[in-house]
Order: sequence, then structure tokens, then C-alpha cells
Amino acid sequence: MRTWIEHRDATLALVEPLPAIEVGLADALGTVLAQGVVTDAPLPRWDNSAMDGYAVRYADVAGATAADPVVLPVVADLPAGTPERPFLAPGRAARIMTGAPVPDGADTIVPVELTDAGTAVVRIDEAPPIGRHVRHAGDDAAAGDLVVATGTLLGPAQVAAVASVGRARVLVHRRPRVAVVSTGDELVPPGEPVRHGTLPDSNSWLLAAAVTEAGGEAVRLGPTSDDPQALLALLHGLDDGSLHGPVDLVITSGGVSVGAFDVVKAALRDEPGVEFVPVAVQPGKPQGLGRLRGGTPLCALPGNPVSSFVSFELFVRPALLRLRGLADVHRPTATALVDDGWRTPPGRAQVMPVRFAPGEPPHVQRATPGGSGSHLVARLALADGLALVPADVEQVDPGDQVTVLRLCP
Ligand code: AMP
Ligand code: MG
Repeated sequence: MRTWIEHRDATLALVEPLPAIEVGLADALGTVLAQGVVTDAPLPRWDNSAMDGYAVRYADVAGATAADPVVLPVVADLPAGTPERPFLAPGRAARIMTGAPVPDGADTIVPVELTDAGTAVVRIDEAPPIGRHVRHAGDDAAAGDLVVATGTLLGPAQVAAVASVGRARVLVHRRPRVAVVSTGDELVPPGEPVRHGTLPDSNSWLLAAAVTEAGGEAVRLGPTSDDPQALLALLHGLDDGSLHGPVDLVITSGGVSVGAFDVVKAALRDEPGVEFVPVAVQPGKPQGLGRLRGGTPLCALPGNPVSSFVSFELFVRPALLRLRGLADVHRPTATALVDDGWRTPPGRAQVMPVRFAPGEPPHVQRATPGGSGSHLVARLALADGLALVPADVEQVDPGDQVTVLRLCP
């Protein structure tokens, strides 16, 4: 049996960062930069005012006090965006607004609050220190500086940094398109009547949501029937792009264990690039992995909802993040104390959905008290972490320390 780490690495080995495409800033959020962004100009581009006030020569206002103010003629009015470039001669002031270029000759901004706000002449009641309230060209970045590096995930601040350079388009890794197929004759779409023996399909929604949250574009399909021929036709249609356009990864749920109707296993029995392997983890032991004949990677996950979720987290999500071009593909972990305890299977790692409880140091409780069943999909909604219990641990006791994958969006 493989360890879950071995299976994760085998999954990661199937994928590479997707090719770069050019996108506009409106589509950049959540993508990963494929080519670093360099600024041609210094940022800010010119010395500019940090305050609404008056640009002056410090020497002219150095002695100003309320009792003995300095009065200067106002020779220019400089709003932000002004194209004017007046030269400020000695003994003069220019009214200036925040962000407007500081005129040549001026070295200090007197905030309007220290003046009578005059427009023809201004009375200055107090002198700020020399150089005060001038933002200097290149404070933020020098011309030629790398502003956002290759491999950076573009969040709001990074998009703003690109925009501030004056770039409207960036080269980013294409987002992965991921097909999600849930299988099972017993499944009905949510919202349809549930007769005895059937249940709503939750896995296609679970996995499509997980793909979206992980930055992919999900093509959700299913529930499909337990007919191997029909499923194989669907998978090949996804593989060659004829059914739903090209996809970068196919995820199936269900039909991978040793039951009589295990449709995914049956459908892919003769697919040379896909193998079905037991992984030493609970839940999530039966896994299928490989490439369809056209080369599309495929992850065949077990059908129990908690197993599907855990399998996605352990195996699929890192691969998805790699396709996006991210270098760090793992969830953050925390060390936490366990409030309750539970038994774990011998010889297999265990992944237990847990919930962080208030208090320091961090501590967790099982999200599924009274059971660790992989069918407990409603209680899975309570989990905000997955405790990773090593294979050689047979019992988790209250007060024990565990490593927890944090399920933050
Ligand atoms: P399977 O691996 O297909 O035998 O499925 C294992 C268990 O998970 C069965 O009890 C299924 O009913 C359940 N199951 C499989 N697929 C789904 C799904 N898409 N949504 C909810 N439950 C499922
Ligand atoms: Mg099934």
C-alpha cells in the first residue's frame, strides 16, 4: 500500500503549471503571474505633495509663527493632475493639492491648516520642518525595479501594484478547467424527489465547489449512471474535448472500491494509463489515478462524501494549485491539542474532520462526534480543519497534540 504522501506526490507528478496567457486586470484576480512586472518609471513618478497646502521654499517660511507670520504671494494653483510645471521663485508660494507635482524650486509643503488658506496671498502661521510633506519620486520603486515577481498569486494588492506601473494586461498561468463527474444509480440531483433507496448527489457539488475555491473552473457533470460503457464514453469525450471543450483534469467520485457495481473501476479497466491503488489512509483508501488515453490527468475518488472531500484535500488540491502555477501548493497547518479522543485504524494514517474550539493554545474537537463515518456529510459542514494522524498512532487521547490542515478559503 502507498502512503498518502506517496499518492499525493504521484498526483502532483501528473501535472505542470499551465501555459501563460495574457489577461486584462479585470480577469487577473486569483491568477498566478507567469512573468514578473517591472516598472519603467520611478514610483511615484515625480515629487508630489502629501498634503493640501502650499509649496514653498523653506528658507522663506523658516521663522513663521502665529505672532509673527510670513505672508507670501500665491503664484500658482496646482490641483492633482495639473500639467503645469511652474518654477517657484524665492519669496513666492504655490497652492497645491495632495498628489500634485511639487514645483521646481519648492522644497517644503505647508499644510493648509497652518495658514489662512489665502488664494492671492497666503499667511503662514507656522513652519513645518524642511522637506516635510514632499513624497519623493522613486520612494516606492525605482525605474527598473521588479514590482510583482513571477509566481506571485495576484490578490487585490498585487493587482493594484500592476495597475500602478501603468500596465493594463499581464501574463498569467491559465486557470485550470476541471471536469467533475459524480457516479451512482442511487443519486438524484438536489431538489428532485428522493424516493426510498436514493439520495441527493452531494459530491459533484462538493467537488465543483472545492475546485472553484481552489482557483479552478469547474465543469460539473452528473450524477451519471453506473453503466461502465456510458461512463467510458463520457470520460473519453472529456479527454478529447469533444463534449465540453478541453479540460486539464478529470475528477470522478464513486465506483472505485471492490463492490459489484464499481463503475469507474469497470469503465477504466482497460485504460492503460490509469491504475487503481490502495492508499494507507482513512478515509480515502481506494483511489484511481493516471492519464486518459488523450493525456488528460484523472483522479478517481471514492464515493463516500467525507472520503471524496478528504481525497480532494490530500491529493487533488495540491495538483490544482500546481496547474495554476503556484509553488506552495499545501494548506497551512497548525498544531492543536485534542479535546476529545478517538481510535484510529492500525497501519493507516487517519484524516479526522475537526473543528477549532475557542482558546489558546489552539485546540480541536471532532466535527463528527460519536462517529468517524465517511458518510457523515452533514456534520462535515462543521469542520474547519482536518487532523492528520500518523499511521503508527492507534489512539488519540484528550490532550494529545495533532497536526491540523486549516481549511480556510
Ligand atoms: P461508491 O464508492 O460509489 O460505492 O459510493 C460509496 C457510498 O457513497 C455510497 O453509499 C454512495 O451512495 C455514496 N455516494 C457516492 N457518490 C455520492 C454522491 N455523489 N453524493 C452523495 N453520496 C454519494
Ligand atoms: Mg457508486
